[in-house]
Amino acid sequence: MKIAPISYLFLFLIILSILYSCSTHLKDDNPIIDKALSELQLEFEYMDTSINPRSDFYQYCNGTWMMENPVPDDKSKYSTFNVVDDKIKKHLRLILLDVSHNGDSEGSDEQILGDFYTSFMDTLNRNDKGTEPLDETKLLEYAASIENSDGIVNVLSYHHPRGINSIFNFRIDIDEKNNSQYVAYLSQGGLGLPNKGYYFDEDERSITIRADYKQHISNVFDWNGVSLSEEEVARIYGIEEALAEASRSQEENRDDNAKYNPYTVKEIANENPTINWPKYFDKIGLKNKSKIIVQQPEYFKRLGELIREKPINDWSLYMQWRVLNEFETAMTTELLNENFDFYSKTMRGRTTMKEDWERAIATITGSPINELLGKKFVEVKFSIDDKAKVNEMVDHITAVFDERINDLDWMSEPTKNKAKEKLASFARKLGFPDKWKSYEDLQINDSNYLENIVQLSLYTFKDKLDKLNNAIDKSEWHMPPHLVNAYYNPVLNEIVFPAGIMQNPFFDARFEDAVNYARMGAVIGHELTHGFDDQGSRYGADGNLENWWTSEDSIKFSEKTQKLIEQYNEFEVLDGVFINGKLTLGENIADFGGLTIAYYAYLKSLEGTERSVINGFSNEQRFFIAFGQVWKNTIKEDELITRVKTDYHSPGKYRVNGTLSNMPEFFSAFNIQEGDAMRQPSDKITKIW
Ligand SMILES: [Zn+2]
Repeated sequence: MKIAPISYLFLFLIILSILYSCSTHLKDDNPIIDKALSELQLEFEYMDTSINPRSDFYQYCNGTWMMENPVPDDKSKYSTFNVVDDKIKKHLRLILLDVSHNGDSEGSDEQILGDFYTSFMDTLNRNDKGTEPLDETKLLEYAASIENSDGIVNVLSYHHPRGINSIFNFRIDIDEKNNSQYVAYLSQGGLGLPNKGYYFDEDERSITIRADYKQHISNVFDWNGVSLSEEEVARIYGIEEALAEASRSQEENRDDNAKYNPYTVKEIANENPTINWPKYFDKIGLKNKSKIIVQQPEYFKRLGELIREKPINDWSLYMQWRVLNEFETAMTTELLNENFDFYSKTMRGRTTMKEDWERAIATITGSPINELLGKKFVEVKFSIDDKAKVNEMVDHITAVFDERINDLDWMSEPTKNKAKEKLASFARKLGFPDKWKSYEDLQINDSNYLENIVQLSLYTFKDKLDKLNNAIDKSEWHMPPHLVNAYYNPVLNEIVFPAGIMQNPFFDARFEDAVNYARMGAVIGHELTHGFDDQGSRYGADGNLENWWTSEDSIKFSEKTQKLIEQYNEFEVLDGVFINGKLTLGENIADFGGLTIAYYAYLKSLEGTERSVINGFSNEQRFFIAFGQVWKNTIKEDELITRVKTDYHSPGKYRVNGTLSNMPEFFSAFNIQEGDAMRQPSDKITKIW
């Protein structure tokens, strides 16, 4: 996922995905496909058997692969996902080349996709035009003309429908406490760095990033022909810093109940009278104003004060900066390089930019028209048989989860019944949507990329506003089918597995069950467990935000998860850089619960079959190695630090070692003893699901 601008994909629902990155995978040209079946199961050659599995299982499974696969210059991380991603991208490129030379009829899927791609790829034209496409939008001109708080409202209501992240975020989404309707949400926003911590952390790297960010602001204005004084840059930064200070941290934002605060327009106006709210809502086209969910009310209160305290010229400069920051990658090569230097080089350790066509695919995949590409992908690259087999695995894993709820010694009967009811109510989506999104009336041209992005934002914004008056569309997907990822959506209590993840190395109908259950099975278990993690467990069987736990069970659950927080807080990924146990709690619970459930589903699949030893490894050992290998990766230090500060997922190594060091099933498979690094002391081990 990009850091800025914010990917459309993740702007909307609180979907809980298995991965942070956008990657894709193609199955039929995989080089291992012709190997003998025994070799196809596991990549034994990737292991480093000189390492003791009792001290570092991740290294034991992947050591040789890691040595042979340093991170390429144009990437910040290299993993199983990237290996397959690189293959699929070549295929997606062919699809895009095909649709971009077609001369298809206006408004057709091919025309939209093809012209969007062409406009992205036409670097000569973009360099030639320079700032012209931006000037045509008048966005900078309006922001420069702000003279009072009314001017701020005018410009805000112009920015938000055009996808510019100024001051706060407005969105339409499913109502978390009444999921038969949509509702408007207001939330904190308006930052150019990833989150609050970046503005206040005192470590050396954060201080350098802040200095580089200020230089970046200055360089981008320069490019636009405006030379800012150091003081002016400080004023822009000062607004962001004040907004960051008023914001909640990422950990605080995990509490969905604390973010559900229904307001009327009048109530919002009472708390923050500096902004003319009725005018703002009218201008953006919001008709149904009866209820607005304010996610961080204290942010909006403070915002009112800030608008009074800070000189109006600071706001004007800041809003010009928001425009430039949003479109940094949409104009000339010079500006693109400037963006790369800060957001990719400094923040993520990349040294070379990806090729244009690769960036085009990543951009489309993160955009609202990603389904157009995914639709073409599954037309040729999806097996209905695989879907049936994965569907069957979901059945088995759900049944095992249900049995395990029966056997939980820490949960009371009433809560167990509710948990089982929730599990039985999970909806599932496999492969690709039953109903494809339509993009009727979306105007995309082949020669003005910036205009295309603005059109896309306006189109999506209007589409969302129209939804307010319509019934919930439960068929909607929040990931395109070609993505190697999966998610749980608590508001609809649904698990979603795109075609991209139902493929080798996650799943192959010819793999032995040990491998399929350790990988695809663990992914399925992971997403199911999200319904019962620290965040998902606050939503009931029908998807509404409600408390279905007895208070006693709720306390016991917190005690159990507290142990995971403490365990992960101890992981030092680099000198002085620790995992944030609270931020990653939901994902760590899901990894732990998911693998446990998948393991027992695998044992069940073994019933009545003959056990086997392959390369000296038992069935159980192969299951754990298969799991250990799917998370193999090499990563640049800058990227690792950025991830620890922004990602809800723990780094791959700890997804393996952290999870396994809590599992007695793993201890017996590899004879892990009390005192070994891969085994937590017994008083720290927790069993949740
Ligand atoms: Zn997850």
